[in-house]
Amino acid sequence: MQSLYLVVTASTLAPFTEVIGGGVQQTVPKTVQQGVILRLAVPVPLRRLFDYLPPEGLNPAELKPGQRLWVPFAGRKLVAVLVELVPESPQAQLKPAQELIDSKALFDSGARKLLNWIADYYQAPVGEVYAAALPAALRKGKPADHWAEQWLQLTTEGKGLPESALARAPKQQALLQQLLRAGQQSRTYLKTQGHTPAVIRALQERQLVEWVSGPTVPPPMPAAEATPPPQLNSEQQQVLAAVDCSCFSATLLEGTTGSGKTEVYLRLMERVLAEGHQALLLVPEIGLTPQTLRRIAARFPEHSIAALHSGLAEGERAQSWLAASEGQADIVIGTRSAIMTPLPRLGVVLVDEEHDASFKQQDGVRYSARDLAVVLARNSDVPVLLGSATPSLETLHNALNGRYQHLRMRQRAGDARPPQIHVVPTLREPLEEGFSPQVLRHIGETLARGEQVLVFINRRGFAPALNCDDCGWIADCPHCSSKLTMHRRQRQLRCHHCDYRRPLVDTCPQCHSRSISALGGGTERSEELLARRFADYPVIRVDRDTTTSKQALDRLLAPARDGDPCLLLGTQMLAKGHHLPRVTLVVIQDADGGLFSADFRAPERTGQLLEQVAGRAGRGSLSGRVLVQSRFPEHPLLQMLLEKGYGTFARQLLRDRAVAQLPPTHAMALVRAECEEPAWAEEFLHNARLFMQSLVPPSPQLQYLGPVPALLERKSGRYRFYVQVTAQNRAQLQPLLARVCAWAESNKNRRLRWAVDMDAQELS
Ligand code: ADP
Ligand code: ZN
Ligand code: ZN
Repeated sequence: MQSLYLVVTASTLAPFTEVIGGGVQQTVPKTVQQGVILRLAVPVPLRRLFDYLPPEGLNPAELKPGQRLWVPFAGRKLVAVLVELVPESPQAQLKPAQELIDSKALFDSGARKLLNWIADYYQAPVGEVYAAALPAALRKGKPADHWAEQWLQLTTEGKGLPESALARAPKQQALLQQLLRAGQQSRTYLKTQGHTPAVIRALQERQLVEWVSGPTVPPPMPAAEATPPPQLNSEQQQVLAAVDCSCFSATLLEGTTGSGKTEVYLRLMERVLAEGHQALLLVPEIGLTPQTLRRIAARFPEHSIAALHSGLAEGERAQSWLAASEGQADIVIGTRSAIMTPLPRLGVVLVDEEHDASFKQQDGVRYSARDLAVVLARNSDVPVLLGSATPSLETLHNALNGRYQHLRMRQRAGDARPPQIHVVPTLREPLEEGFSPQVLRHIGETLARGEQVLVFINRRGFAPALNCDDCGWIADCPHCSSKLTMHRRQRQLRCHHCDYRRPLVDTCPQCHSRSISALGGGTERSEELLARRFADYPVIRVDRDTTTSKQALDRLLAPARDGDPCLLLGTQMLAKGHHLPRVTLVVIQDADGGLFSADFRAPERTGQLLEQVAGRAGRGSLSGRVLVQSRFPEHPLLQMLLEKGYGTFARQLLRDRAVAQLPPTHAMALVRAECEEPAWAEEFLHNARLFMQSLVPPSPQLQYLGPVPALLERKSGRYRFYVQVTAQNRAQLQPLLARVCAWAESNKNRRLRWAVDMDAQELS
């Protein structure tokens, strides 16, 4: 890997030399090569750019930062991105790049600025950052014009016409009007709208329209009947008045579930679309449902929407990405990685359910899309709105200390009323598959009234453990420090961490006893009971086993949307984003898990989840009730959550975190290592800590912990440890992490994996 043309650039050096003072022994060699030098982001795990000469025979004038090139690298051929052109290189004997892939730049300067920032802040290899920003097809080197499509646009003459023109040719007039409103339309879309080739030709002959080639935009969603926007209530009006779309501002919108946050997003979109800007909406992984897309499409039937999520086929994703990055798509809706899409006309950044854990990438480039949303908005001088009923402590902290504007919406929009919440003690109750008799009675009564019930269960599968009553054997995963979950329908035992599977056994492999029993509950087990108890009603189970795609979820929920009485049962997939107005009873089967976890973030997550699930109750005109089962109804955190609500609960947690010197009042990073040989990972981290301590000794301002085993100590056969570094602020942490990365890159043990996790979210 340490090949001849490896170059440490001044820009990657900068963070190394800053703060720690002295100590840095970097010799920057003098210039040896001059001319047009390409400084490239090459997808390899090294934190630097690489210098190359232009491809042979290429006119250097064709080169623009942001283009892709094929380059030779350590005997392989890789797709690299041109970050900058420089007149000289400190390196002798540069190789030429092989071939230029793009005629236009894929990443504009705004996008490159963000990606370079990511590499610096998260201590990530810059080549991997650029690779992560590309959709897979483009990452593999496919030409961007592969997906080109024909677009119909108005000529100068056409643009000069009033909407009332062509009154005697109504079909031509309709098309003209559409183009006057939308600017351009794709051939595919025009066809779906019933504009015939003859009509288009007629306008072409009058020289009012012309075809141009551009990226393919996914055809607009089949919009439900265009719904007229509701009259804004006063809270919504106040929020909208407080967000200025002409410059950067960061705002937390803390609004109860059902308070009409989505309506606020739609109005902000509307505002920037009218100015000719693009709107970016980030949603959690399980929040990007066809229902969400339909709702937005129905509001903006004339604007093209690009959806970016993991459910797309490779080609579709590349199309959406190009439509967004070339400015054809007006609205871009996506999950985490959409934040890295170049958006040339960006006007507003919206983050829905900003507290959601899926915004943090947990491997590779470990960025937080939520935090990047703020960086992107600042870079682009546009507003960013972070919306949630249950804001993350990070965002709440920024709002309370005045870094973000803090707006609240307390009323439910429309005529929905807040639900009533009750705790149902379960400690000495005769439970039936985890349900108390009182809860089962309420479920029955609700169904009998013709209403719907939602039951929330933490765990999928039938039971979280299988155990021998005679010898105490438990079915463990051979690769992870965890138990296997029993999936009865598939007759399998499965590991939920590494997906190891084995057939279900009915005798104990250790003592051959036949008394094997399933311990604990899961969605499958509850489904069996509820289907038996309430046989007259459909029971719909929603978890990762029943819902392999967004469409599947949509189909599964269709009967519930129709409004007939039914019982919905599922994991957190059910907690988000589904508007089910006939759900009047929500049951939370077990609230206790998160209250006693070793992860300091567990109470925050439990609070968010309970509040979100509870928010599913009574979204329509019927009022709702929430029953929370707990073995510890007196637990102070649970009490505070249920009596005072998430807002008070979260503010208390924030005070606790400050006392404990934890995020968000303190900055935290983990240096992680994993290896099949636990001693190697521990030793590596031990040395990493000694190295860091030699640079910055521990003090009240900067503290070290570890190496300690991760909460899931062994995963997929590898033992996992981390060293935790906390500091009063990020400025103390950043240079230290840069140094430890440089140190770790010289590690030669190929069986050991290491990573730096800035603002780590998971201790697992
Ligand atoms: P949130 O995103 O805060 O959970 P939504 O924006 O989804 O809330 O709104 C909840 C429901 O209230 C939706 O059915 C929405 O159409 C409706 N709604 C939103 N704003 C208004 C309003 N001003 N008047 C009437 N209904 C509204
Ligand atoms: Zn046994
Ligand atoms: Zn496993």
